[in-house]
Amino acid sequence: MQHLGFSHKKIKIGSFDFTCCEGCQLQLANHESTLPAFLELLDIRNFREISSDRYDDYDIALVEGSISREDEIERLKTIRKNAKVLVAYGSCACFGGVNSLKNNFPLDETVREVYGDHSVDTMPVQRISNIVKVDVSIPGCPVSKEEVERIIVSIATGSMINFPKYPVCVECKQRLNTCLFDLGEICLGPITRAGCDAVCTTGKTVCLGCRGPAEDINFQSFMQLVADKKLSLGDLDEKLRFYNCFEAFRNDKN
Ligand code: SF4
Ligand code: SF4
Ligand code: SF4
Repeated sequence: MQHLGFSHKKIKIGSFDFTCCEGCQLQLANHESTLPAFLELLDIRNFREISSDRYDDYDIALVEGSISREDEIERLKTIRKNAKVLVAYGSCACFGGVNSLKNNFPLDETVREVYGDHSVDTMPVQRISNIVKVDVSIPGCPVSKEEVERIIVSIATGSMINFPKYPVCVECKQRLNTCLFDLGEICLGPITRAGCDAVCTTGKTVCLGCRGPAEDINFQSFMQLVADKKLSLGDLDEKLRFYNCFEAFRNDKN
């Protein structure tokens, strides 16, 4: 990644959305307790949820969403050209996200089912890194606003960027939750990167892996755990596909 020894007083930043729900941008824009201090650090060049200004010069481009139309490819390439550092943020940008579910079905049938006879410009969903070089990926659906703010500051100051390497189970146990496997459910916590404070499992909802794989996971052991507990492998496969975060492991398996 290009080192940003910023000479400007403020970091020039742009945020751009592609195929997504814009929930990640909203997370950043809505963070009222720290937003004023965060904005002090930034020169917003292009971020339609925060400002009506539109400029093409920015040091950091935050890219939200996946790619599902031809015209998005050219737009993304232009953003890459303009930016010194490109950050993919949110599971849609990093992995394809929930949008990727449509890749599990024949595209023409899906379009017909949803849009009937209307003509729709669409193509199979791709993650941002399939199209352009990504310098930093910040996963999550939505992202953790504290994490995004911390990483932007790290990029600006040239500091090391750290993500938790351990799985969600660690945070889940710290919160003294009953394991959902013990309640007969399949939870992707053992193979998913922590950093969300186990928000779903604390709310008694299984982890669907939105933060992607933790480091050095033993995927085969996890599959065995599900099999040993006589839980549905079909259900497991559905969960693994939900955010498209475990594509590489699923392919290994096949
Ligand atoms: S990662 Fe989730 S919250 Fe963020 S844009 Fe995609 S669907 Fe929305
Ligand atoms: S509920 Fe999920 S995240 Fe929590 S300990 Fe069990 S498997 Fe791990
Ligand atoms: S518990 Fe799992 S699905 Fe929920 S926010 Fe954390 S990583 Fe994402």
